[in-house]
Amino acid sequence: NNGRWDEIWLAGLRDTAPETIFDKLIGGDIPASVVYEDDKVFAFKDINPAAPAHILVIPKDRMNLSGLRKSSPEHVEILGKLLVAAGEISKNKELGFGDGGARIVINDGEDAGQEVPHLHVHVLGGRSMVWPPG
Ligand code: IMP
Repeated sequence: NNGRWDEIWLAGLRDTAPETIFDKLIGGDIPASVVYEDDKVFAFKDINPAAPAHILVIPKDRMNLSGLRKSSPEHVEILGKLLVAAGEISKNKELGFGDGGARIVINDGEDAGQEVPHLHVHVLGGRSMVWPPG
């Protein structure tokens, strides 16, 4: 029964990494200021905003995606959903986004300043940005 074995093996892979604070936000154990949610995607205000508008968009099921470097073809659908949600959020005036666009960023790994090992897309806006980032 290969199907069953694959299921168990995949579940094992997913469970190898410990929970992060983001799992507690998704689960409601720690309060989050949620701005969008569906069955796969969770988006909330960053607790330490780096711009007038700063939202984090994350997969509800991390699927072993501690960072983008862990991505593989099984993640194509969730990665698409995260970016579509980020694009929608970046147009939301009530959240502080303007007409001029947004900075949409994934910090991937230590050198990029990633702190939480649960893939997250930063959506920053409400001011003009400089390039290159620090
Ligand atoms: P990173 O540096 O790319 O990993 O981004 C992690 C982000 O998570 C930072 O911008 C933090 O301010 C944010 N953050 C950490 N804990 C919480 C929380 O409990 N609620 C909302 N945002 C958080």
